[in-house]
Amino acid sequence: MAKRKVSSADFKKALEKGRPPNIKKIFPNSKALIVSGKVVDWAMMAKGKAVAMAANGRNQFVIRGALLAAQRANAPVIIEIAKSEGGTKAYCAVNYWNIAMLVDNLCNELGITIPVAVHADHYGIRDERDLAAAKVEIPTSFEAGMTSIAIDASHLPDDKNLLANIAINPYIPKWAGLETEVGEIKGEEGLSTVGEALFLIQGLNAHDIFPDWIALNNGTTHGIEEKDSGIQVQLTAEIHTALEKYKISGAQHGTSGNSSERLRQIVARTHTTKANVATALQMISWGVQVNDYGNAILDASGNFSKVKGEGASEEMWEEMVAYAQSKSWKKGDYKNLSLPFENKLLAQPKEIRDRMVKGVEDFAYKMMTEVFNAQDTAPLAIEAILKEGSYDLGPKVTRIENPAEWTESKITERASRLVGDKGPTGKFDD
Ligand SMILES: [Zn+2]
Repeated sequence: MAKRKVSSADFKKALEKGRPPNIKKIFPNSKALIVSGKVVDWAMMAKGKAVAMAANGRNQFVIRGALLAAQRANAPVIIEIAKSEGGTKAYCAVNYWNIAMLVDNLCNELGITIPVAVHADHYGIRDERDLAAAKVEIPTSFEAGMTSIAIDASHLPDDKNLLANIAINPYIPKWAGLETEVGEIKGEEGLSTVGEALFLIQGLNAHDIFPDWIALNNGTTHGIEEKDSGIQVQLTAEIHTALEKYKISGAQHGTSGNSSERLRQIVARTHTTKANVATALQMISWGVQVNDYGNAILDASGNFSKVKGEGASEEMWEEMVAYAQSKSWKKGDYKNLSLPFENKLLAQPKEIRDRMVKGVEDFAYKMMTEVFNAQDTAPLAIEAILKEGSYDLGPKVTRIENPAEWTESKITERASRLVGDKGPTGKFDD
């Protein structure tokens, strides 16, 4: 059985050895244990059948609540923000360039001692222009304290997806957590296949790129689910099994609105170690009523129902609804309230702010401990850092594939032989 407690001497050593160079440079005197995403993956694998919450910090209340929950669960946590949420065209005040600063600051303020990774979620690359921008933008986000990233070129055909992942890799620090994505997250249509996933991971392997996580389209959508048929556990398990020799873990997207039971099966039956939770935490911070797995409960007229005495003040919520109505925003558009209301929410009295955080904390704690089986994994993460004596745990696998078989022309030729149904094209939420 793992040690449940970390001695203060070990914690100090972990701060000294475990913080990556960018973090040490920008937060030289910090007592926040910000680590590479790899460390979080390792800790979950060390426990086995355990998944780390990756909380999308769409507002400061969510970040606070997720950190407090992780501390209570004695589990590492990933605090992340996606390009759509916090890139250059963001709808949130939290962004790629201030999220590490917020996390570092809040860890110190709240006395958080569990390891935390800061992850750039869904760094989308849809064309050559995005790729050129990424070569500048990704380094800037690491300069600002990012310790992990998800490259999402899944909107592209398989060969272009692989080639984009290869082209951008030199711009990502080797020590950082790395996630890649196959199959756009868009629900029941265009589900990922074993062939597609193998193609991406083998091609990367041939180029000495060893991602920590793969995200699949395994049946979820982002945002609010209309039904809970959701995640295809069997398909996920099959793909993870096919990828076993590449030692890649799974990343689960679109968890909000999937039943706890289905998420427990993902934990128990697949190699998933990271699960993104975005919409549910935001809804709870506002005080919107959700069911046990975080899907918003709508009233008879199909509107969100606010729980009196929880989340934002009643007056604030009325203002938010009126704002959304003035823009003719539907339920799925409510996330756009993040940016215009961040300061208004922060300007509420302490008791209101505290209850917003507390709602997130309680929900996240329950999910981490009762669904994700992540409790008491923090000492395993610290153990890994101390054993390695470094912030860089290195790759989990070495090169297996032959680079000569994975040149650009061979990649294109191989991709043309892949059979798969990509599902409908269109704009799906990241
Ligand atoms: Zn996602």
